[in-house]
Amino acid sequence: MTSSRIPFKITILLCLLTSLTQIHAAEWDIIHAGKLLAVPGEAVTAKQSVILKDGKVYGIKSGYIDAVDLSLDSSDSLEIHNLKNHFVMPGFIDGHVHLTLALAPGAALSWVQMSDADTAMLGAKHARDTLMAGFTSVRDMGAFTDDAIFAVRDGINAGYIIGPRTFVAGNPIAINGGHGDFTHSFKEPVADVLRTSGVCDGVAECRKAVRDQIRRKADHIKLTATAGVMSDSNAGLEQQFFEDELSAIMNTAKLMGRRVAAHAHGAEGINAALKAGANTIEHGTFLNDESIRLFVENNAYLSPTLSAFKTGEALLNDSNSFLTDNQRVKAERAMTAAKTFVKKAHDAGVNIALSTDAGVGLHGDNAKEFELLVNYGGLSPMEAIIAGTLSGAENIGKLDELGSLENGKWGDIVAVNGNPLDDIIILQNVKFVMKEGVVYKHLAD
Ligand SMILES: [Zn+2]
Repeated sequence: MTSSRIPFKITILLCLLTSLTQIHAAEWDIIHAGKLLAVPGEAVTAKQSVILKDGKVYGIKSGYIDAVDLSLDSSDSLEIHNLKNHFVMPGFIDGHVHLTLALAPGAALSWVQMSDADTAMLGAKHARDTLMAGFTSVRDMGAFTDDAIFAVRDGINAGYIIGPRTFVAGNPIAINGGHGDFTHSFKEPVADVLRTSGVCDGVAECRKAVRDQIRRKADHIKLTATAGVMSDSNAGLEQQFFEDELSAIMNTAKLMGRRVAAHAHGAEGINAALKAGANTIEHGTFLNDESIRLFVENNAYLSPTLSAFKTGEALLNDSNSFLTDNQRVKAERAMTAAKTFVKKAHDAGVNIALSTDAGVGLHGDNAKEFELLVNYGGLSPMEAIIAGTLSGAENIGKLDELGSLENGKWGDIVAVNGNPLDDIIILQNVKFVMKEGVVYKHLAD
């Protein structure tokens, strides 16, 4: 027996101790917040310390605490973030983006020119722009490629690229020739390149289309219950799926634990989608009294996407814009209703989740939606902030993890200069962005 050999039992013990030490080494962060809105809807407090452990909220204490106030192990690390001159709040949530899309002249042609890999790179850029605007979580509402949007989500989660926590629908579920079928502008055989697994007709195909998205690891299901403004089609803005198809989509998704978001403009389509069990209505432009009754009864969310309407208005006002005649006719109809429908819903007590449809508008301009919710929707600044935080979290089905700075939730934190409750535009100039305890943006005052 050699004296240098460590007995087997001691080796096991040492390994165990090493691994235990690794397990217990914690990363702590303390954010010194001059003003803090920890839970939107509750009071703003002054001179607070938000304590994070391993990226999650561990506690909030009055005053500016430091290392000696925490019982740290010697292997733990601690970083203190000075936001004493800032207004600190939970990271924003956008319930409707298209990270791999960018509306522009010739955009439809780019869909067949770009590889999925090219599209993923574009998505990575949009993801970074979105995070830097203070949006720490987003829900992607449909992509035209098979793989790119999943690669973007998974790349963010793996730390390969920088972006918000992203929940993905995959391809939108759409009828053949409907909104969400990306083949409109193309003849065969080019059209075939853009025909996605989300396009379906009839109950059996629609069940399969939903299952295809879930097989590819979609987090939720997006369907297009009515026509849309931006598809180059002259089919109006009314209902596109039949009731049996809508039920097939909803039931298949729910059997497999997925929430369902239904794009809908025309009232009959909104109401049919809500009756079939949609959790959210995207746009909701021509909602009527029956829609409001169904929203409230089902506790469903409205994703108003006022930013997209604003983009549409600008394109309409520009006679040289790339809108086709089909798009122009529909945009004119939708823009008129866009000025009033959110207020009508909000006044009647419908849940509203901040949503932009970024991809139609610019990625990174997402915070303009707060201002639009106030100006067109009649929400107070605090209500708009709730729509972009707590309601966004509930809309995604992640209220236990996101939307406020409460113990156990993710340390997703943004900070601005000034008080957004006095001037909502301040949210368009975010100075500090942290996601899961990691700082991605920290500008000097
Ligand atoms: Zn959209």
